[in-house]
Amino acid sequence: MPQEITALFEGSYSVDVTKKFIPFDASVHNKADRPASLFIHVQPFLIKTETELLVLDTGLGYNNAAGDMILHQNIIKAGYKPDDVSKVLMTHLHFDHSGGMVYNREGKLELSFPNAEYVVQRGEWETAYSGQSKSYRTEIFDVLQRSGQLHLVDGSGTLTHEISYELTGGHCEFHQVFHIKTANNHCFMGGDILPEPQQLLKKFAAKYDFDGRKALDLRLQYGEKAVEQNWVCLFYHSDNKAYSKVRKNETGFYFEAV
Ligand SMILES: [Zn+2]
Repeated sequence: MPQEITALFEGSYSVDVTKKFIPFDASVHNKADRPASLFIHVQPFLIKTETELLVLDTGLGYNNAAGDMILHQNIIKAGYKPDDVSKVLMTHLHFDHSGGMVYNREGKLELSFPNAEYVVQRGEWETAYSGQSKSYRTEIFDVLQRSGQLHLVDGSGTLTHEISYELTGGHCEFHQVFHIKTANNHCFMGGDILPEPQQLLKKFAAKYDFDGRKALDLRLQYGEKAVEQNWVCLFYHSDNKAYSKVRKNETGFYFEAV
């Protein structure tokens, strides 16, 4: 029986002011050779609920050495097919989360999940097209718009009896998070509001956040709720735990494997 939650690890990358993501393999590369860079891990998630197969954020969309999309290969390894994905839930549209919405098939961009509905917050979609930020690549979104498979949502609400979304802002003005009920768990996809477990351990206002103070407050609030309600938190940029439950004692938060 395939598992409910699968991390679709796409690799480690460095990114500098040009916003290009360059693969970083610590066994070959040296951080000192990439000055003024941020080093990130990228891992979208695949979740099987009782009625759907979901992808949560889509990574960079890069291919492996054999020319196959890493995301597709990871889904196949987990025992599923990209064509079986019913919804793609997007926390926001920065390139490291949205590159894999499409892939290059013999020179033509196509949807990576041809049978899925792609769920995007309306304000984020409009921001992407406003042309103010190099973090958005609209040629990706053009493909989605033409497909008729774009589902824009506004604010916070319920998508199905298993899926709800909350507009958070913080990391970017229209960032959203998702709650997903599987047979056994309440999964929380915090996107870049809660991208790494370490951020619950030290107070951390990131300079890449649109509103750093708000992002920090939200991070801690979601941490508290995760403890109270026994959520499984999915950590999109984590370099150690991909997902875990969050617990708290007198010294602070800690994590428990699922
Ligand atoms: Zn990110």
